[in-house]
Amino acid sequence: MSGKGTLFTISAPSGAGKTSLVSALLGQVEGLQVSVSHTTRPIRPGEQDGIDYHFVSESEFSRMLSEAAFLEHAKVFGNLYGTSQHWVEEQLAGGADVILEIDWQGAEQVKRLLPEAQSIFILPPSRETLEQRLTQRGQDGRDVIAARMAQAKEEMSHYIESNYLVVNNDFEQALNELKAIINAHRLRTQRQATDLAALLSELLK
Ligand code: 5GP
Repeated sequence: MSGKGTLFTISAPSGAGKTSLVSALLGQVEGLQVSVSHTTRPIRPGEQDGIDYHFVSESEFSRMLSEAAFLEHAKVFGNLYGTSQHWVEEQLAGGADVILEIDWQGAEQVKRLLPEAQSIFILPPSRETLEQRLTQRGQDGRDVIAARMAQAKEEMSHYIESNYLVVNNDFEQALNELKAIINAHRLRTQRQATDLAALLSELLK
C-alpha cells in the first residue's frame, strides 16, 4: 500500500483518554482522518453505529476476514476489531493523513506491513488516575473495569515498540504534543519534496 498521506497508529490502555484526544485532534488539524473500525463488541450507550464503530456480528466479521478486508485485526477483551484496508488506502491515496486507534497487536501488524507508519502510545499519568478514569466512565461493570486494569499493564508494557510516547496528564498539553508529532512529520523532507515540488523546481531553475 503506498499513498501520499501518512498512517499514524495511536495505542493506549483503555481509560488513558485516547478517544477524546483524537476527537479534539481531528477538530484542530486539517487533512486528518480517523478510521472507524469494525467490531463484534456490543454497542455501548451513547455510541453510534458507523460513527464510533461499525458494529458487526461474528459471522459478518469472519466473512470480511475471509475476503481480506482488514489491514489489521485483533481480539481485544474477547471481542474482534479490524481496520478496513480499502478505506485506509483510499484516504492515504487522496493525500489525507490517517489515524488508527488500535491496540498494540494491531499497531505491530501495521508496522510490519507499512514500516513507514508512525506509532504513538498514550500513557495515563499514574495507575491511580487510570483506575479513576475507568470508574468515572460508568459504562462498564466492576468486573469489566477490573479486567481492564489487569489488561492495562499488558497493553502499556508494549510502549517501547512505538515511535512516540505522550503522557495524558494535562489534556491541552497532550493535544499539543500530538499536533507537534503530526506537524513535524508533515515537515519531513521526503514529504515536503512532494508537497513543495512546484516551489523546489522554481527555486532550482
Ligand atoms: P473499546 O472497545 O473500549 O472501544 O476498545 C478496546 C480496545 O480495542 C482499545 O485498545 C482500542 O484501541 C482497540 N481497538 C479498537 N479498534 C481496533 C481495531 O480496529 N484494531 C485493533 N487492533 N484494535 C482496535
